[in-house]
Amino acid sequence: MDTELQKHYALLLGVGSPWEVKTVDLNLPDKKVEIVLSWQWGQSAKCPECGRACSLHDSAPERTWRHLDTMQFTTLIRASTPRSNCPEHGVKTMLVPWAEPHSRFTLLFERFAVEVLLASASVSQACTLLDIGWETAHTIMSRAVARGLERRQLTALKHLGMDEKSFGRGQSYVTLLTDLAEARVLDVVADRTTAASEQLWATLTPAQKQGVAAVAVDMWEPFIQTIRKEVPQADIVHDKYHVSSYLGEAVDKVRRQEHKELLAEGDATLTGSRQLWLYNPENFTAEQRQEFAALKDLHLKVARAWAAKELFTKFWDYQEEGWARRFFKDWFGWVSRSRLKPMITVAQMLKRHLENILTYLKHHITNAVTEGLNSKIQNLKAAARGFRNFQNYRIRILFFCGKLELYPL
Ligand SMILES: [Zn+2]
Repeated sequence: MDTELQKHYALLLGVGSPWEVKTVDLNLPDKKVEIVLSWQWGQSAKCPECGRACSLHDSAPERTWRHLDTMQFTTLIRASTPRSNCPEHGVKTMLVPWAEPHSRFTLLFERFAVEVLLASASVSQACTLLDIGWETAHTIMSRAVARGLERRQLTALKHLGMDEKSFGRGQSYVTLLTDLAEARVLDVVADRTTAASEQLWATLTPAQKQGVAAVAVDMWEPFIQTIRKEVPQADIVHDKYHVSSYLGEAVDKVRRQEHKELLAEGDATLTGSRQLWLYNPENFTAEQRQEFAALKDLHLKVARAWAAKELFTKFWDYQEEGWARRFFKDWFGWVSRSRLKPMITVAQMLKRHLENILTYLKHHITNAVTEGLNSKIQNLKAAARGFRNFQNYRIRILFFCGKLELYPL
């Protein structure tokens, strides 16, 4: 055996005494390099549980680890790991310097795989690049997330977000707890019930919970209840994006009803106008702008509903609570007299929750961060078609949106 080559590989792998490179087999037809490492017997053993020096028991059966490719040759490491015999922990397979316990990959391979996964457009693309399967990618991501959660320091969690997302088909949901300042997902649980929400709060220590000043959240009762119970000092801030989407839905209801009435009279004015009433006029094309300007002046009910929704956006600009209250009172009065039932229903709901909408002026937080992460999370879901398993979904969200320290080195 060429000792220079052995030294070269020992250096590349970062292994030293008591491990040594025994052989390097180059398999040209299979484009494979196999490196056999061996333990120099006579060295004292170390218990992997407590680290104390103890006697050697025997060696475990030979195992294989995948390493980074060498010049596009699949590179494998083979070794029989010695087993220690600790007076306290008994017979245990010792730790090896090139891999984490139970991993089938070397540390360098795992590090590289994490980098490729983070940089790839999709998990399947990363699988192709790394020449690994889905299961393997999932194992590497789970291990990375476990490392990241272990290392994570959660200090100064002041502004949090709690938000639900649909998951899979039908009425299943997951709930996310988000650190708004750092734009990171703290954890994900299945469902959007009181129990699910409590499970999320349980991931924080009492001290962390006491530091929370405000939580941005939808007007979803189970979330509101648990926030009051778990972080009673925190302000609840109902999200302006959710408020706007409630108003948008109401505008759409008014349009559908009016469209039906007009069609009954043979009037097709509102045909094909759905998007015009929902989209932000700032994003209209020239053609849409013209079309919309003509519609707006027709004294339609939907035009009044739309105007009420547009007017409400002013609420968020107030600096002072007193002014915002006065504005709301006027707006509410105007909507109440509008005879537009869907708008009145939403206005009454906003009135019931007004105290927790006004808190926005104090904290200026929204779940927009979560909304930004949403498209990322949406991609994870789309890329993982037929991917139903919640645990896998959680791992992916934390891997890509948790801002965790994922690397093994
Ligand atoms: Zn021990």
